[in-house]
Amino acid sequence: MNSLHDMTVAELAQALKTKQVSAVEVATGFLARLGGNPHNAFLDIDSEVTLAQAQASDARLAAGTAGPLEGVPVGHKDVFVTRDFATTAGSKILTGYRSPFDATLVQKLGASALGGAGMVTLGKLNCDEFAMGSANENSAFGKVTNPWDTARVPGGSSGGSAAAVAARLTPAATGTDTGGSIRQPASFCGITGIKPTYGRASRYGMIAYASSLDQGGPMARTAKDCALLLSAMCGPDLDRDSTSLDVPAEDFTASLNGSIEGLRIGVPKEFFGEGLHADVRAALDAALSEYEKLGAKLVPISLPRTELSIPVYYIIAPAEASSNLSRFDGVKFGHRAKDYTDLVDMYKKTRAEGFGNEVKRRIMTGAYVLSHGYYDAYYLQAQKIRRMIADDFQNAFKSCDVIAGPVAPSVAWKLGENAGDPVADYLADIFTLPASLAGLPGMSLPAGFGAHGMPVGMQLIGNYFQEAQLLNAAHRLQQATDWHLRKPEGI
Ligand code: GLN
Repeated sequence: MNSLHDMTVAELAQALKTKQVSAVEVATGFLARLGGNPHNAFLDIDSEVTLAQAQASDARLAAGTAGPLEGVPVGHKDVFVTRDFATTAGSKILTGYRSPFDATLVQKLGASALGGAGMVTLGKLNCDEFAMGSANENSAFGKVTNPWDTARVPGGSSGGSAAAVAARLTPAATGTDTGGSIRQPASFCGITGIKPTYGRASRYGMIAYASSLDQGGPMARTAKDCALLLSAMCGPDLDRDSTSLDVPAEDFTASLNGSIEGLRIGVPKEFFGEGLHADVRAALDAALSEYEKLGAKLVPISLPRTELSIPVYYIIAPAEASSNLSRFDGVKFGHRAKDYTDLVDMYKKTRAEGFGNEVKRRIMTGAYVLSHGYYDAYYLQAQKIRRMIADDFQNAFKSCDVIAGPVAPSVAWKLGENAGDPVADYLADIFTLPASLAGLPGMSLPAGFGAHGMPVGMQLIGNYFQEAQLLNAAHRLQQATDWHLRKPEGI
């Protein structure tokens, strides 16, 4: 047996089922690794809660009533509300907040006695404040560092999730993706992550950033592990999430190992233009030729409005955020300013003290593009182009089955490199935003290494509900290559 922290979700589930190891032993082993909070990846850890969950898992394993992932540890991005751990969404404004309920995805992965997969929660993972960011430098509780080079960012906004999985602090984590926040940190940290079709996994209990884009999904080291978690996460939640789709859950592991002979992989020319760094391009070229060796066919395609996805996204997402974040006013949740004269003054001071700069910037941008006189010029135009971006994908899928390209134009940049220049971070989202705006499933998988020995991720985008096909394509590549098996030095 590998040492516990090196085992995948699939291996741990098997070892637990065959009683080679107990859930309490697994939890104890991982909790020991969290001492000193490496990479500042976690925001809340409570070993008593974790061990109690592990004991419950051991009882279910002994009784033969175990869930499919019974006793396997997981960490949750801090935008998922949890009853047993604090929830802050990386913001000071939620300091001291405790949710009275668990998010649907937390429940679905959690206690098997309540119908969940049986995973044991290790804690809550650091992230950009309200999931706004591309580098995890916007957390009110400090930056997260990249395990491959601690002078570099882990990506964002699910940076804590990606760093924790890469550093073997947890075998798997949840993330949320509004404009790339599962795929981009997965790419920067050399792990695998998938954002399903918008509406396939419930948003209930996921603190809202931009509701028409937000989607939760798993982050782990392999496509197989992502398939295991995603199978537990998907499914309708119609009573609690108005955008949940009535599409049944699926066993995404059933289609792994399918042949990809003849699979048509679309390669969008706009994803391989001037902005793409040479080291990332070289890694992707090599990964794509691996696909050709496996029998896939590369098909040149075009996604002509790729560039427009940046202004479109950075109008729509802030617009929705400005509305969603209005609920944080000091009345119901978290922080309330101490000295104020009247209600309006209390709102103002609470929000001025509680929100960080990036969140304030988005609220102001959002309020502006929605305001009378600007709504038509910005918000409405952005919605129209969003539709066209979705249409471009449907056009492309006439000649290919999946789309492959970079996740980000470069490898992870240095901490502080873009300080004072938020637009530089926005521009780096160019390749993840189109699939988000279209609501399509997308994933990132390790595809080699680039400058400074940093990991490079390949993005696969599928048509609606084609998660199984994406996971299979990723799994096949992972069987033929070993990029996903490499780990940062000293880990
Ligand atoms: N970087 C993008 C943003 O800041 C995407 C973040 C996300 O997907 N949550 O909005």
